[in-house]
Amino acid sequence: MSEFDITSLIKERAGENYDLHEQHVNRTLVKVLRTIGFDKVYARAKGSYLYDAEGNDYLDFLSGYGVYNIGRNHPLVAKAIKDVLDQDLSNMVQMDCALLSGLLAEKVVEITPEHLDAVFFCNSGAEAVEGALKFARGATGRKRILSLAGGYHGLTLGALSFTNNGNFQEGFGPLLPGAEKVGYGDLNELEDKLRQGDVAAFIAEPVQGKGVYWPEEDYFPQAQELCRKYGALFIMDEVQTGFGRTGKMWALEHWNLEPDILTMAKAISGGYVPAAAFVTRREIHQKVFNRLDRCVVHSTTFGRNNLAMTAGLATIHVLQQENLVANAAWAGKVIEEKLIELKARHELIQDIRVKGCMVAVEFGEPRSMKMKLAWKGIHAVDKGLFPQMIVTPLMTKHRVLTHVAGHNLDIIKALPPLIIGEPEINRFINGLDDVLQDCTRLPGPMWDFGRNLVQTAIKQRKSKKLAPA
Ligand code: PMP
Repeated sequence: MSEFDITSLIKERAGENYDLHEQHVNRTLVKVLRTIGFDKVYARAKGSYLYDAEGNDYLDFLSGYGVYNIGRNHPLVAKAIKDVLDQDLSNMVQMDCALLSGLLAEKVVEITPEHLDAVFFCNSGAEAVEGALKFARGATGRKRILSLAGGYHGLTLGALSFTNNGNFQEGFGPLLPGAEKVGYGDLNELEDKLRQGDVAAFIAEPVQGKGVYWPEEDYFPQAQELCRKYGALFIMDEVQTGFGRTGKMWALEHWNLEPDILTMAKAISGGYVPAAAFVTRREIHQKVFNRLDRCVVHSTTFGRNNLAMTAGLATIHVLQQENLVANAAWAGKVIEEKLIELKARHELIQDIRVKGCMVAVEFGEPRSMKMKLAWKGIHAVDKGLFPQMIVTPLMTKHRVLTHVAGHNLDIIKALPPLIIGEPEINRFINGLDDVLQDCTRLPGPMWDFGRNLVQTAIKQRKSKKLAPA
């Protein structure tokens, strides 16, 4: 039997990444990545940067969709995981209570609002949302659940029913009965729906991930009040906004909210091990685990595993020790100031929205005739292509990784790690400045690339029409 050596395996097969995925994984994603010039092979990562085999650095303003709040490959988290591996601890005995999950639960309770004191651990954001929704139904005995238009709560069938956004739901119905959408910022509609007295919960992201939106100042406090009035639970989904992302440990702190359930995932474990949780009031917890024969009525095999718990403890330690929440607030301020400057110089920028290290730049139809025509041409074919014309050269010319904020939105989004300083901010801003400058050259390479994207989109549609049903 040959020896297994992961280091040699990685060395031997390096570079086969996209071919392997084309053959065995998501071939459509491979096609998209190749089309938009994102088909890079990364060899290493540290802090705010990714590196290819030639040693080129790529500034990571995506952070694995908001996972790497403390930066990539933080040595303290790596050491904690290695130390725990070396101890050969018992793990997932299941019929026991392990120390590490108890310790992380204690920590989660310590850093979340005071009234939240009972934790459930799981493996992904969607799973935390599923759990929160089940607990809401279980604890209230009610069936209906409300969520906001434009919200994103995950893609498992239950969570998907509340992801009122883009094309995620298309083709997967029927969705969960009792799932209802309410207009963003519309308190009257919310009250109308709550008034019927059969709503288990209202779930919302404090800052919507798709597009980086937050409502008027008094919306959430009043929505919370309405939930209380009609006996519905108020769930804040902080899977993306949690752990300092918006310049506060929890985005709910921007409005001093006191949700009944708070979901978290992504950044909790420093990007090493899948982990997620939700925290709620003991009373709600006990209504679910209400009899001895129901002590595991909600559970998941890997939920409290040692590696995730260790990574969680170490990650929260780093967040606090390195003052990363304050740094995220500082970085957000600097980015916002610089984007305001850019907006004054680039007519393509219509709006900017920044909450800590959650950044959106929204584009709008330019006034100058030539650009207006080109803008209209691109949008006539596909409403979602223009921001890709910004994101791709940011990557290919400046090696800055950002992403398009969602379907049919003229928005690019950046989720930098919370550790960034002036050099990272300047590289992002200067890159964006240069790319927007390139957009004013018409004809020019930017619009040529846009035309290529358009042609690929048209070809794809034609081939779909020709394909047998
Ligand atoms: N809720 C929110 C607010 C999210 O941003 C996400 C992920 N983007 C999820 C839930 C789902 O998390 P996961 O991808 O880990 O299932």
